[in-house]
Amino acid sequence: MKAVRTPAPALAGGATPVAALRGVGESVAGKLAARGLATVQDLWLHLPLRYEDRTRLTPIRELQPGVPAQVEGTVEAVERGFRYRPVLRVAIGDGSRATLVLRFFHFRAAQVAQFRPGTRLRCFGTPRPGQHGLEIVHPSYRVLGDDEAPALGESLDPVYPAVEGVGPATLRRLVGQALDLLPDADALELLPASTPGMAGLPGLRESLLVLHRPPADADLAALAAGQHPAQRRLALEELLAHHLSLRRQRLAQQQLHARALDGPGALAARLLRTLPFALTGAQRRVFEQVRADLALPNPMQRLVQGDVGSGKTVVAALAATLAVERGCQVALAAPTELLAEQHLANLKAWLEPLGIRVAWLAGKVTGKARAAALADVASGAAQVVVGTHALMQEGVAFHDLALVVVDEQHRFGVQQRLALRDKGPAHGHVPHQLVMTATPIPRTLAMTAYADLDVSAIDELPPGRTPVQTVAVSAERRPELVERIRAACAEGRQAYWVCTLIEEPEEDARPGQGARLQAQAAERTFEQLTTQLPGLRVGLVHGRLKGAEKQAVMRAFKDGALDLLVATTVIEVGVDVPNASLMIVENAERLGLAQLHQLRGRVGRGAAASSCVLLYQPPLSALARQRLDVLRQSNDGFLIAEKDLALRGPGELLGTRQTGLAAFRIADLARDAGLLPQVHALADHLLSGAPEIADRVVARWVGGAVRYAGA
Ligand code: ADP
Ligand code: MG
Repeated sequence: MKAVRTPAPALAGGATPVAALRGVGESVAGKLAARGLATVQDLWLHLPLRYEDRTRLTPIRELQPGVPAQVEGTVEAVERGFRYRPVLRVAIGDGSRATLVLRFFHFRAAQVAQFRPGTRLRCFGTPRPGQHGLEIVHPSYRVLGDDEAPALGESLDPVYPAVEGVGPATLRRLVGQALDLLPDADALELLPASTPGMAGLPGLRESLLVLHRPPADADLAALAAGQHPAQRRLALEELLAHHLSLRRQRLAQQQLHARALDGPGALAARLLRTLPFALTGAQRRVFEQVRADLALPNPMQRLVQGDVGSGKTVVAALAATLAVERGCQVALAAPTELLAEQHLANLKAWLEPLGIRVAWLAGKVTGKARAAALADVASGAAQVVVGTHALMQEGVAFHDLALVVVDEQHRFGVQQRLALRDKGPAHGHVPHQLVMTATPIPRTLAMTAYADLDVSAIDELPPGRTPVQTVAVSAERRPELVERIRAACAEGRQAYWVCTLIEEPEEDARPGQGARLQAQAAERTFEQLTTQLPGLRVGLVHGRLKGAEKQAVMRAFKDGALDLLVATTVIEVGVDVPNASLMIVENAERLGLAQLHQLRGRVGRGAAASSCVLLYQPPLSALARQRLDVLRQSNDGFLIAEKDLALRGPGELLGTRQTGLAAFRIADLARDAGLLPQVHALADHLLSGAPEIADRVVARWVGGAVRYAGA
């Protein structure tokens, strides 16, 4: 595979390694590099998380709880105590007839000696209500000499995202040094105001300086919200760079060769005749798009978006027959074993009657069975291979892989998708790729996030489905719901109870803690419901269970051995249990609309009328009410995705996890979605009129990282 290296960043000074800065030895350089900060330019783009305003002094009387401030005062009293742990309390006054307490839990003897009554201090921190008025815990401070009155800062102090092993003061100094190396505006600017659409925006140099050293009167609220013009200017350029890079990759992809799967389609026609249903218009249209792509000697790169239940699998099966007809192999990967098994069952039922051999390769397949499966895959005897991540592992060799289907691709990384694609035959061909997702994203976003893919939409559900009836209900009415579950299960139906946690993110939250707390919440609900519904068989799944345990519970539910499944959001992707007709989602107001819609897609898969109850904690804010109303009124995943974006909820709609885009340094797809039309117009302009500028934009933001052609 040919690695495409973008041209060296043609940026005056920006490519200078950080090691060239004063005070950066091998060890510091290593620590910076570990955080992705290798060059001076990386430091330019390492933007502050927030700012501290030391440009003025606040009289103690005017301090507000929760609002960081700088204060100057004289020590009035010092108390050293021990309550559970050593504590030092220093009271200071500034003549404004109020006292502020500075409280320290970690301190050295030398520090205590500093705080003699009468000593003048200048300190900075966030006051909170304490036992005796306001107090600041662990302020930053300096002791002032008798007549010393240090100048106030001229700009806000940046607080940078921490770099392990490099202290904040050092980091601030290094970024300052890097900024001193900024070339003048013209040398730095790639998108001058004369570029269409750029008039009125601050230049790059000005934007960087404003963000690293905001003037005392800068709009802190806009900065905190990421809405400052300087932030928008940088986000615009970054989004542009990623978009251009994906468009480049797509062009490179189109240069590669693939098997033209352009047979007469006899197998597909036979499959269509044997299916127990007729394709919807949307399925037919999307299959025709796929078929036209596959007939070309260049690899297809197509994303099929389709709501849960829209029938994506059969489109994949039809595509598979086109490869088989040409004597080639197909791989279909799903993110979980259960999901892969479902695909296996469907594909076997549809394809084996046509004489097509379908093989199975998952982590669970070991020993002789695995060796046999691998041999079949390698010899080409297995024409269609279904599996999980196991398909992507080393040691899995195909005879002639011409089509790769990846389901729910956001659960896989781009790297995994590439690993599978790279299993194509060595003689100059790469496999076609069909990527399927049930997470619709709005068109403008798709154009950015999937600029390397063609996008099709199955925007119609098969006939005969009754839309899921959705209601929003206050958590106070929980007892009624317990009755409702009893009634549904008495009729032989099944139900889901989805627990989500109201999580107040804590500053010292440890990774994995969220999953543990979620699991605990689900366990509590499970115990309650088991007690309240003694006649029912209740199961529990959450993310802390082992894979096999989780699968066993899901399977029991699918087989009807459980009536009620208490679950965390782990059931989001997955299982088809047509008999389940009732779902209750707790704390629904806290979830993203797209995620709620995905969850709701677990019911309404059979003929029975289904309902989804969104439980919320009162009182409901106007915005939260509006968001839940969207779900009550619509079953259309695309519309919901658009609204989710418009209402800017805390949705999980977007993000690098789902798009396979490299992580952004500055941009945020949800926050900056409004910039996208401008990004697309700029990209068109540069690609047609100034490709060398396009190269430099990509090099500045995305370059350096090696990207594979057609990734
Ligand atoms: P998804 O798009 O969520 O992956 P599936 O492919 O699992 O949806 O299809 C959901 C169900 O609908 C399956 O049982 C499938 O056999 C069925 N189905 C697919 N297409 C049609 C159709 N055109 N008419 C009726 N049923 C269909
Ligand atoms: Mg599916």
